[in-house]
Amino acid sequence: MLPKPITIPKRLLPKDGRFGSGPSLVPDEALKNLAKNAHRYMGNSHRKENVKELIGRFQEGCRDFFSLPDGWAVLLGNGGATFFWDALAFCGIEKKSQHLCFGEFSARFAEVVKDAPHLEPPQIIEAELGMGAVAEAASDVDFYALTHNETSTGVLADISRPGKTSDKASGAGGALAAVDGTSGAGGIEWDPAETDIYYFSLQKAFAADGGLWVALCSPAAIARFQKLAGERWAPNSLNLALAYENSLKQQILNTPAVATLYLAVHFLEWAQENGGENGKEKGKDKSGGLKWAAERSRKSSQILYHWAEKSDWAEPFVKDPAARSPVVVTIELSENVSAADISAILRENGVVDTDPYRKLDKNLLRFGLFPSRDPADVEALTKCLDYLADRLT
Ligand SMILES: *Cc1c(COP(=O)(O)O)cnc(C)c1O
Repeated sequence: MLPKPITIPKRLLPKDGRFGSGPSLVPDEALKNLAKNAHRYMGNSHRKENVKELIGRFQEGCRDFFSLPDGWAVLLGNGGATFFWDALAFCGIEKKSQHLCFGEFSARFAEVVKDAPHLEPPQIIEAELGMGAVAEAASDVDFYALTHNETSTGVLADISRPGKTSDKASGAGGALAAVDGTSGAGGIEWDPAETDIYYFSLQKAFAADGGLWVALCSPAAIARFQKLAGERWAPNSLNLALAYENSLKQQILNTPAVATLYLAVHFLEWAQENGGENGKEKGKDKSGGLKWAAERSRKSSQILYHWAEKSDWAEPFVKDPAARSPVVVTIELSENVSAADISAILRENGVVDTDPYRKLDKNLLRFGLFPSRDPADVEALTKCLDYLADRLT
């Protein structure tokens, strides 16, 4: 049954009502900027200067924004993170991987690996929904599959290389640590010393559109790709050694999603402008962009978590405060309030995509609070939620 319609007064509504966890809101400013400059990039050959320059700007932007150590490469390809899982099954995992499965996305990569005939069955470490899992060093594992932010549940993971500290420099006895950063990348800080591959799509914290995967890769990761590409067959579209060669030429194997790329560059440059070396806040170094962006998401999420903690009909779904994501906030409602009704009414009022991940059977709301979100809009959101609860309970 549809809930009775409720009109939320305009003065309470957020300026931008797109609260999806991916695709997430793309700022109007970025879209206007794209329209203004589109002629230079869209409908242009990706083998010519303009698009290559855009790819180069993206790669350089990532180096500064994420403070990548020397020797790291920025690889790109079509297909998004889902496609990159397939590429890792071909060119990343040598024999056996370990997967921390604590939600839909982390579990999906493990499924890909289970079905790969050339790999051993993966080791899977599972956690209950709403909690994180911890990697364990294992001598027969050559690839650790970690997830920075489990978008389905709003659980944040600590990113650290499993194994003894003394092994760390060598990547725990040559094993690679790979992080699915798809919804975390751009909104949560991490340390490149703790990982070899940090990969993501651009329609979440980067406030762009879908279509591309990005992988930030250490020299050890590149060496693994080259070794495996020399030893066993991989289709060109999944061949990461080939993706690396293309990255050196500011190219992508085939025609890239150029508007997505443009919006991603816009995000990086926007964050650098605010937090980087020439940032509005004085004294920032070149790599201040991520710090600034992460702080903005932290601020937004704290508003919502605090509100939920004080509310008598809602509470944070993730019980451990240290595991609460700053970019994807999940809120569990008490039995007398239906999250599905709240989501439906919010949608009628222009506040969209607040439903929980489609496969979770829980009375939850979920909000994407990526850096592009103005924290003032989260304040507004809490007012809207209270307004509805007063009328529904
Ligand atoms: C969204 C998401 C994916 C899938 O991204 P696609 O671009 O749709 O392939 C993978 N992992 C995580 C953590 C995600 O949030």
